[in-house]
Amino acid sequence: MKMLNKIPLKFDQDKILRIIYQGNNNVHEERKKELNNIIEESYQLINSKALYTSLAIKKITNEEIILENGKRLKSSLLTKKLKCSPELIFYLITIGDKLEEKIGELSGNLLQAFILDRIGTYALELTTDHLEKLIKKERNYQQISKFSPGSTRFWDIEQQKVIFEILDGKRIDVKLNDNYLMIPKKSVSGVMGLTKQKFYECQICKKNCEYRRKKFSPSFLEV
Ligand code: SF4
Repeated sequence: MKMLNKIPLKFDQDKILRIIYQGNNNVHEERKKELNNIIEESYQLINSKALYTSLAIKKITNEEIILENGKRLKSSLLTKKLKCSPELIFYLITIGDKLEEKIGELSGNLLQAFILDRIGTYALELTTDHLEKLIKKERNYQQISKFSPGSTRFWDIEQQKVIFEILDGKRIDVKLNDNYLMIPKKSVSGVMGLTKQKFYECQICKKNCEYRRKKFSPSFLEV
């Protein structure tokens, strides 16, 4: 099991502007300055950490993936998409709890709380990208796809428990509660593996979401 601590992140201010103001280009200079100050502050509140390990796939049936250690992942999506993957890389990522604590203290400044929350989600996305690049480099893979339990209706959130049986969340201070939600909230878990073509969960997700990376396209459910 490998662990990364204090993963360096570089925020793209234009991207954050697009996330916060949802594509509105007429943002006043004063607002941009305020945003830059909040971005600078957020660097001090974020400590990106990751934990990951790999397990060979023993067997894939229509309903589940059976791993070398006997653990089973039940998901029709994973069994379809990961047919050609020899292994699954289990991962757990967090940005820590300081940003969340700060948001909790900002009941008198809801705009700042909102912006910090969005920056936190963006930081998680950057951390996941960092890990994905590292894993591709370590294995010399051309492309890799990632999946998270509960992100789509094709992989139940209860399967978080399998991920936490494989990865010791305590090592990066992440816990799973009885509702299968992670604490701190700004954490992500999942698996990465080889797929025939690069797959994004956004391609099968209908949500109206500012973090969308690819267009909704139900044909991506087909193999
Ligand atoms: S559209 Fe948004 S909610 Fe849906 S999978 Fe993509 S990032 Fe997640």
